[in-house]
Amino acid sequence: MARIRWKVTSVPHVVKSSARWQWLRVRTAVRSLFYNHFLDTTYVVDICMEPIFWIVDNFTKFLGPFFVVAVCALTASVVVIAYWIGIPHWWARSPTATVVLMVVGHWLLVNICFHYYMGTVTPPGFPPEGSLIPEAASICKKCIAPKPPRTHHCSVCNRCILKMDHHCPWLNNCVGHSNHRYFFLYMVYVVAGVLFLMVFGVQLAYEEVWLAEEEEPPIEGHPVRVNDTMLIPVAHVLSSNIAHPATEMNVNVSLEAAPPPPARSLRRNCIIYMAFITSGVFVALGSLSLWHARLIGRGETSIEANINKAETKRLAARNKVYVNPYDLGRRRNWRRFLGLRRGRGWVKGVLLPSEHAPFGAGLTWRTASLAPQRSPRGARGLDPALDALALAAAAAAADSSSSASSSSAASDAADADA
Ligand SMILES: [Zn+2]
Ligand SMILES: [Zn+2]
Repeated sequence: MARIRWKVTSVPHVVKSSARWQWLRVRTAVRSLFYNHFLDTTYVVDICMEPIFWIVDNFTKFLGPFFVVAVCALTASVVVIAYWIGIPHWWARSPTATVVLMVVGHWLLVNICFHYYMGTVTPPGFPPEGSLIPEAASICKKCIAPKPPRTHHCSVCNRCILKMDHHCPWLNNCVGHSNHRYFFLYMVYVVAGVLFLMVFGVQLAYEEVWLAEEEEPPIEGHPVRVNDTMLIPVAHVLSSNIAHPATEMNVNVSLEAAPPPPARSLRRNCIIYMAFITSGVFVALGSLSLWHARLIGRGETSIEANINKAETKRLAARNKVYVNPYDLGRRRNWRRFLGLRRGRGWVKGVLLPSEHAPFGAGLTWRTASLAPQRSPRGARGLDPALDALALAAAAAAADSSSSASSSSAASDAADADA
């Protein structure tokens, strides 16, 4: 018969080890639910900032239509003032000059309206859904979908955008592969438009605001002091109260009659408003256009500019030189950005409103190492054999991974580069 031997002294030890074991199990289970191999300070900061990003993104999305209305109202107000004050002023000076200015002004206006409208309604370009994307270089963590080179996820649109530049609240649209040209040319034409208004309106403003102030009628006689604090010209008092003694009531009446007539005052305020708007827009959009022009000349988007900067710094620390794979040279970058192929020059493609599509589908990109070299005679076009070789080289280059590119990139065989 078995005998049970109780050891009272060992009970606390058994309870303690059992509790410790249970605690370890629970802790491991909880940690396994939140395990992340990439957990670091940046990741934690990103997670903490997520609510702020959410508010900003939703706020931007909500305010988008109001920004569009504001742009339209601002543009319309400037055009109405130019018609109301500018055209009669120039017509009185020279009808011929007025006709020339109207032609130039309307050319700028048509281009501004066209590029703004197209930038707003043209989708920026999205990766195809529900089909294989052989060009995909990575996976979007938010869409859980393949991401072609130069594609980025827009948190405002909540979609992946081909060759995304940025989300523009003024267009209430993302700026990407398909509408980047409209966005840039809109800015350029707005800057040209406000410069046009400033150059041909500065004399008008000088005459109607500056000189008008200096030509105020001089004070005649001695000033009248009211309650020992306010001085008013005797001329006003005399003109309105010539037949009456200057009682307190009469002085009040003359003070109300002192401001200039409403029409003149409105005209003057409109000119001052135009001066503020045009100079402000010129400085703001002018500097933004120059910055974007610099990026376009280097073959990079706003997002890539940050990535390339970080990569340059990172590789410089290892004594390596970073080369932007999408930089094909300034001239070629510009031609590709503006979509200038054979048969479409600057006049048809830039100076006049044009709906032509950009180069390629935005899924594959020609890289600097694959760009066809111009022949010594300056022959145009792309040799198909050279392009096939380039594609093969691209695949090999992508596999061997050059230090220049963080994402694989293949040549856009469909393009006929000029
Ligand atoms: Zn995405
Ligand atoms: Zn967007």
